[in-house]
Amino acid sequence: MDAFTYRQNELYCEDLPAEAIAEAVGTPCYVYSRRTITDHYDRLREAFAALDPLICYSIKSCGNISICRLLAERGAGMDLVSGGELHRALRAGVGAADCVYAGVGKTDQEIRRAIEAGIGWFNIESEAEFENISAIAREMNATCRGALRINPDVDPRTHRYTTTGKKETKFGVDLERARAAFQKYGHDAHCRLSGIHLHLGSPIYSADPYVESIHKVLALMDELNREESIEIEMLDLGGGFGANYTTDQSPLAADYAREIVPLLEDRVRNGLKIVLEPGRTIMGNAGILLTRVLYVKTSGEKTFAICDGGMNVLLRPSHYDAFHFIWPARVAAEHTPERREKDMAMPGLVPIDVVGPICETGDFLAIDRPLPPVERGDLLAVFTAGAYGMVMASRYNAMPLPAEALVDGDQVKIIRERESLDDLLAHELTPRTVDVTAARPTS
Ligand SMILES: *Cc1c(COP(=O)(O)O)cnc(C)c1O
Repeated sequence: MDAFTYRQNELYCEDLPAEAIAEAVGTPCYVYSRRTITDHYDRLREAFAALDPLICYSIKSCGNISICRLLAERGAGMDLVSGGELHRALRAGVGAADCVYAGVGKTDQEIRRAIEAGIGWFNIESEAEFENISAIAREMNATCRGALRINPDVDPRTHRYTTTGKKETKFGVDLERARAAFQKYGHDAHCRLSGIHLHLGSPIYSADPYVESIHKVLALMDELNREESIEIEMLDLGGGFGANYTTDQSPLAADYAREIVPLLEDRVRNGLKIVLEPGRTIMGNAGILLTRVLYVKTSGEKTFAICDGGMNVLLRPSHYDAFHFIWPARVAAEHTPERREKDMAMPGLVPIDVVGPICETGDFLAIDRPLPPVERGDLLAVFTAGAYGMVMASRYNAMPLPAEALVDGDQVKIIRERESLDDLLAHELTPRTVDVTAARPTS
């Protein structure tokens, strides 16, 4: 599952005690395991080897450039949703041709830069966006490739904020509209519309939604081929594979592959290129958040552990009501956790609200969580925080962004420095007047 395990009642990150890392790096901090990252990537690659897919790591799940580099060195491409992520991918040494670029709101400038860089595929979210990309490519005297994001109206049975493949979401176009779009644009000279993109939501704890939507798009591909002489060269299955927020919660890469691979093997033999866009399944379990208890406060029946990191460093509990397993980095022998469960059943646990320093009632990491008793100064580990953790951190309440560290065996590197107080002011210290005369109506 990951390399964050208890030895002699003490949490280790690979071969280093979490407490030693926290002392050296400070808290709050994100700690990633190199071994877990590469294991997850390698297992995914092996599971889907029969399809020889291009695995485009979803940068938005954890964008640190050292992590992008690590995956790029192993042959990963990147899945992007903004010009900022393109910049990151290029700086990490990824070839633009190995990048796919989704996102409902690409600006003209972002599109131009991506064409200039030689982006592998635009994953296109609407007819209007297709027309804009094609027009920009024509203006630049360039050509590019597009995959139409199809919203197959399949329910991934996950949080409504992260459901993206249902009809009522803003993503992609439905099957009917996709057919019409391929008819209309399938022979465009500047943006070759020859791919199909799916991304159903996240996390998806079953292969069924993938299977259902693959059947739907394969039928469409055959129809386009027969009736419009349009050859689909690339099928991008998106991301969404699960992570273990509790022990053994998620299927393994091999479990997804067992259902998906047989549907596509023949097609791949006939030249279809498969793309995967994993984020959470690689990074979720590969990172923890370390935060220190500043105060323990009781109020009526409630006990609060007030920590130095809250919604500002890890937004998922507040934003999605997400469950993250939390446990002290040092525990009494009887409290060594064998598994990570929502309701840990051990003698001597007490319900605690784990909260942050932010001035919001919604600033919590866990509510009424059975935990071993905690005291001021204790270090807490928040597990499965590697994906959609640091990337959603904010500076709310003028809190500097936390540090990130990468563990490799018994070594640890800071891969992002904790921000300083001056960093917080960096873009504010020299106000300047801007010329608005050109923008004023003349009449
Ligand atoms: C977020 C996202 C992903 C990654 O999803 P995970 O659940 O982290 O695997 C992949 N593709 C697109 C288009 C996305 O928006």
